Amino acid sequence: MHKTDILIIGGGIAGIGVGRALCHQLNLTKNQPNTASRSVTVLERESQTGYHSTGRSAAVWIQSYGNDSVQVLNDQSFHYLKEPDDISGGSLLSQRGLLLCATQDNKQNAETDRLLKSSASVVEVDAAKAASLVPILNTERYTRFVYEAISSDIDVDRLLQGWTKQLTASGGQLRCHCEVKSIRRHGDQWEVKAGSDVWHASILVNAAGAWADEIAKLASVKPLGLKPLRRSAAMVELGAGHDVSQWPVFSEIDESWYAKPEAGKLMVSPADEDPMDACDAWVDDMVLAAGIDRFETSVNDTVKRVTHQWAGLRTFAPDKTPVAGFDAHAENFFWLAGHGGYGIQTSPALSRIAADLILEQAAPSALIDSLSATRSFQ
Ligand SMILES: Cc1cc2nc3c(=O)[nH]c(=O)nc-3n(C[C@H](O)[C@H](O)[C@H](O)COP(=O)(O)OP(=O)(O)OC[C@H]3O[C@@H](n4cnc5c(N)ncnc54)[C@H](O)[C@@H]3O)c2cc1C
Repeated sequence: MHKTDILIIGGGIAGIGVGRALCHQLNLTKNQPNTASRSVTVLERESQTGYHSTGRSAAVWIQSYGNDSVQVLNDQSFHYLKEPDDISGGSLLSQRGLLLCATQDNKQNAETDRLLKSSASVVEVDAAKAASLVPILNTERYTRFVYEAISSDIDVDRLLQGWTKQLTASGGQLRCHCEVKSIRRHGDQWEVKAGSDVWHASILVNAAGAWADEIAKLASVKPLGLKPLRRSAAMVELGAGHDVSQWPVFSEIDESWYAKPEAGKLMVSPADEDPMDACDAWVDDMVLAAGIDRFETSVNDTVKRVTHQWAGLRTFAPDKTPVAGFDAHAENFFWLAGHGGYGIQTSPALSRIAADLILEQAAPSALIDSLSATRSFQ
């Protein structure tokens, strides 16, 4: 039987991020009078961290992405990602830019207006500028173009490895190959069975990504109605030889496909959002083929070869805002879930907020209310 004060389920960016933030906070207060020391443990089912959604992302930071709460988290995370003071190797961001293209369809036109009005980071550009950014773009298909220059690639591997090292260096434990199979309340403790181990913890943090509602059910806690949605991607080679390295991420504004340069090739995603039960997600060939077809009608080139393909789950709360907060009814059961399509780019701010809430050090704010697990999910 193992004892820990705070037990985190899930070794993706959410679990590792909050684990590292908790250890950091606890170390700051370690020698203060009347402060009991507290231990932190992360349990991960797979043999490595980041195996599921975290290791399958497009690795992009987009300021204008997501609803108002998400955009605040994007802003609050930018400075750390730009200049992390505790991860060697410098900035985790490389500026890339984002070009969104709209057809004359009314909905796409309205979305262009909405984005220009709501996001200070985007500007409207003309077809000549769009073509200079992405020379293969079929500019005859599109009537309007929106550009966000500050969008950047994120070095997800360095972020995750850096935080994992900090977690263990500052006293936290990471246990891989530990699948949580049962959870129950035992006195004032959570009793968690994982493999042949039994853990007792005062606080349980549910950072299990697509499985977060399953973990709640194991603990007899009411699920929040989180929806895992599959998103696929493929590395492709184009017919004509292009140097894609300086191109921005580019997409139709309705997100019916998007493309991103990656290691000299192009990553193309059908931007699928098919509901699935939590699982090790795989690509549906028909969905990928249809997405590549939509991409090909939008550019003056063809896909010669798909060299690699994968899929992952983006898990959303019904209102598309992440959840960070204690459950309304289950004592010391903390939700950190519903990171959707922005879990990496919001992770510095969301991990810090989650750690502050767990340690009861967070000042009330409208942002914290919007993340709460007790909010209305209608
Ligand atoms: C194709 C794609 C593109 C994306 N692009 C971007 C992007 O450009 N920018 C961005 O910010 N975000 C992006 N995202 C979203 C981002 O990847 C997710 O929001 C983020 O990774 C979620 O992290 P997580 O830690 O919550 O989940 P995960 O990384 O899935 O981690 C959850 C972990 O919990 C573990 N677990 C579950 N059940 C148990 C159990 N019973 N016992 C022990 N462990 C368990 C799992 O094994 C898993 O490792 C993208 C996602 C996809 C799929």
